[in-house]
Amino acid sequence: MTNTGRDQEPETKAVTAGRDASGALSPALWASSTWDTTDVDGTNAGAKSVHASGFYSRYGNPTVQSFEHAIAELEGTEAALAFGSGMGAIASTIFALCSTGDHIVAQRNCYGGTLAFLDGPCKRMGIDVTYVDGRNASEFVAAVRPGKTMLVMAETPTNPHLDIVDLAALGAIKGPYTMVDSTLATPLGQRPCSYGVSLTMHSATKGIAGHNDATLGVIAGEKDLINTIWSYAVLHGATASPFDALNGVRGIRSLGARLRQQSETAQQLAEWLSTHPAIKRVNYPGLASHPQHELAKRQMRWFGSLMSIELCGTTDDARRLSQRLRLVRSAVTLGGPDTLISHSTSSTHISVDPAVKAATGISDTLMRVSVGLEAFADLRDDFAEALA
Ligand SMILES: *Cc1c(COP(=O)(O)O)cnc(C)c1O
Repeated sequence: MTNTGRDQEPETKAVTAGRDASGALSPALWASSTWDTTDVDGTNAGAKSVHASGFYSRYGNPTVQSFEHAIAELEGTEAALAFGSGMGAIASTIFALCSTGDHIVAQRNCYGGTLAFLDGPCKRMGIDVTYVDGRNASEFVAAVRPGKTMLVMAETPTNPHLDIVDLAALGAIKGPYTMVDSTLATPLGQRPCSYGVSLTMHSATKGIAGHNDATLGVIAGEKDLINTIWSYAVLHGATASPFDALNGVRGIRSLGARLRQQSETAQQLAEWLSTHPAIKRVNYPGLASHPQHELAKRQMRWFGSLMSIELCGTTDDARRLSQRLRLVRSAVTLGGPDTLISHSTSSTHISVDPAVKAATGISDTLMRVSVGLEAFADLRDDFAEALA
């Protein structure tokens, strides 16, 4: 709260979120994997505890909990649970909530790793999945099988096509749990749980940690649901490392400044690339030409660092562009300080069925661009030379 009683802006909250009462401005790095629990009764109390620290680090760790508290505060939820990666968060949440014979409704146009998990391990375990086009929220509702559907999974904006899902429509779905992969938006870009969505998930490897030096995932939601997922996750073991959680908190402190600059530069670059004759199409929710620009404006505070561009030509043109860019590097993450380019069809979406790629706009000339912290003029000149 500010002293006028107004709720603080998210950028302000990010500076202090998750801080404890010790007076330290940064969390301590608790590397310890275990704690002295005094005697048989103390050890027994630890073994029966839920998501508590001071027992064994897979159950809970004070540094990881600083990160979890920070995320819960920014997402406006009761609790959060960190994982060793974004995929650790997705896999653990699905297996915590779904059993053989259960049904999931998932968005067809989402992250390649999520699709591979739904088509591989979920299928093998007898969990049935119905895919829908997330751009039309009524498709999620229509696909729900009462009593069978345990989870409705969405991603917005999507990686790499930047489609937007209507969070209010998703939050209105009753019965199954709803989960939104909000990685591209970050907690300062949108808050899915404020629309009634059950769980917000992030690959904190990306914009949250923000410096390409942590592999980290997180989910946020109501305490009871997070505790239920914890009781499976503690056995699944995709536990967050304290060092990565520390880097997660460090990233949160400067997320407001980074996200603002990345969004501003991405907007300028998207507008400039849209007018370039070698580019067929630019997908960025901040562009008025984006088919869901109005929806994005309603539910997002910033449009984020990620865009994708469709080149005129063939895969060879995509290869040549990646070779000619000098400032912009070829690498597959997003939200960090360096501007990166990647070829989705041969990297993050390599295992996705060609028919699905065609249906979700992942063509051979689609390149994903994660805009970093460099000055716009330098990025523009790099693209201008490489595209010439
Ligand atoms: C990267 C990413 C993931 C997976 O996260 P990892 O930390 O790499 O496991 C999931 N969803 C989206 C949207 C991502 O960009």
